[in-house]
Order: sequence, then structure tokens, then C-alpha cells
Amino acid sequence: MPTAAERAILEYVVETGYLVVRLKKLAKQVLAGSPPLSSQEETSFRQEIAEKWFHLGCDQCTSPVPIEDIPVAIESGVALCPRCRPLEVDVGLADSCAIVPRIRIDNTKPAPDR
Ligand SMILES: [Zn+2]
Repeated sequence: MPTAAERAILEYVVETGYLVVRLKKLAKQVLAGSPPLSSQEETSFRQEIAEKWFHLGCDQCTSPVPIEDIPVAIESGVALCPRCRPLEVDVGLADSCAIVPRIRIDNTKPAPDR
């Protein structure tokens, strides 16, 4: 049985039509959990789906991309590991960043003269 992260990838590639019909059928079969794959189907699944979609190297440093991030990477067409990604993505997470309060203060009315 696929892990939750693998299921997410399978569902994603099935929905988006990345798989040819034969592989799509296999992926759906694995997601459904039945009927069991024949050994030939299992080999096919492993070689043509699992090896291709469950492992992804970072575009910049070739570190592996965490499996949870693979659907996003497939969708965006950019595979980046957490180390290479922050510059681009962390903007939305900046609430917890120490810089933010300072910016907020700078944006308020000018301090009165003393
Ligand atoms: Zn990287």
C-alpha cells in the first residue's frame, strides 16, 4: 500500500493526466487497493510510476525533494529542496519573521517630533 504522501502523488498524476492510460489504470488500482497487482503490473508500477514520480531531485542542488512536496513540484514545474526554496516561498510565512514588526512600525505615521 502506498503511504499518504505517495497516495497524494498518485492522485495528482492520475487527475492531471500525466500518466498514459495503462499506467493510470495501474495507479488507480494501487489507490483503490484492489484488485492486487500481478507481479508484472507491480514491476511496471515500480519502474514507470514509483521511480519516476516518488523521487525528485532539486533543480539547483540535486538534493532529494521531500515526498510531501512532490505534487507541488510537479504542478509548478519547479523542483526545489527546502534549502533552495525559502527565498521564493517564505514570503507567505513571514508573519513569524522578526523583520515584520519593524516594517509595520516603519509604515505607521511618522513619529511626532520631540
Ligand atoms: Zn536544493
